[in-house]
Amino acid sequence: MKKVRVAIIGSGPAGLTAAIYTARAELSTAVITGPQFGGQIATTHDVDNFPAFPDGITGPELTERMKDQAEKFGAEFLWDSVTAIDLSKGSPFLIKTHSEEISADAVIVTIGASPRHLNIPGEIEYTGRGVSYCATCDGAFYRNKEVIVVGGGDSALQEAIFLTKFANTVTIIHRRDELRASVALQTKAKANPKIRFIFDTVVDEVKGENGLTTGVTLRNVKTDAKTHMPVDGVFIFIGYDPNSAIFGGQLALDDQGYLSVNAADHSTSVEGVFAGGEIHDQTFRQAITASGQGCAAALMTIKWVDDREALQPLDDMQPVAQA
Ligand code: NAP
Repeated sequence: MKKVRVAIIGSGPAGLTAAIYTARAELSTAVITGPQFGGQIATTHDVDNFPAFPDGITGPELTERMKDQAEKFGAEFLWDSVTAIDLSKGSPFLIKTHSEEISADAVIVTIGASPRHLNIPGEIEYTGRGVSYCATCDGAFYRNKEVIVVGGGDSALQEAIFLTKFANTVTIIHRRDELRASVALQTKAKANPKIRFIFDTVVDEVKGENGLTTGVTLRNVKTDAKTHMPVDGVFIFIGYDPNSAIFGGQLALDDQGYLSVNAADHSTSVEGVFAGGEIHDQTFRQAITASGQGCAAALMTIKWVDDREALQPLDDMQPVAQA
């Protein structure tokens, strides 16, 4: 069994920043990356608002740089997902992944959130065959094609703008007549000649032929009129749900499944378990705020481990690589 001082579950900006701090504080640190290294920001092509990058940076490059920085201080990356975790007996906590068991004195939960689905006929059937939740990953397949983007928030508009690099036209389908996105993104999207808007409208079904998406059924929510729209790609950006299922019954969650976290010290309902990023934050949801919350969770974890070590020696640990 691998023994570490700190296990970090999740590898988005919150987890990677936490790893930089705990590893630099010479606490042996394992980052369990989960299936999507880098989290949501790694699926964003252009990151324009992360400080220190005036010309922007891609999401994958930003996360790669954070990983390199954490590794420089000795953090170990486990390219695996948590299958089970036992927080019931207190520290040290037992974590199982597909390939190993880890004992950790403290845990930092930075497992984030996942794209929400529309739950309409054809959505699952055509995922990866015209239906996508990641413009960075799939946008290039839609060169000179017709695509729709579903949603009216920042993600929908930002990704729609990105998709205009490839697609002929990008039609944003929004269920209301007012966008939720920031004014800056609205202005940019409305000025883009490749972007069109259809308001007061939802997608009822994704249609396809020979295993590929060929169109969607749209419904005007005010008139109930249905129309068929031929499209090659359906990009869905309607928000995110917290990845908290593995903590059900072990950590306090709110009624939407977000972790209940003490804002003052980033602690959770179990002593020695801290959290940061979108697993608890529904307000800010920026890469930079996730990084800040990961930093705060790490600082409180370091203090918790230090205070506890002063009271009782912890188990012998594997040595931490020096920077
Ligand atoms: P969001 O702000 O929650 O917006 C989700 C959008 O999808 C809303 O317009 C919503 O409609 C629509 N929607 C939700 N469920 C739907 C359904 N079942 N059918 C049709 N439409 C549905 O989510 P987000 O855009 O992913 O943004 C999440 C957070 O990340 C936000 O805080 C945002 O500011 C932040 N973010 C920031 C940036 C940036 O700063 N550049 C970029 C991306 C994301 P309604 O408007 O009617 O509710």
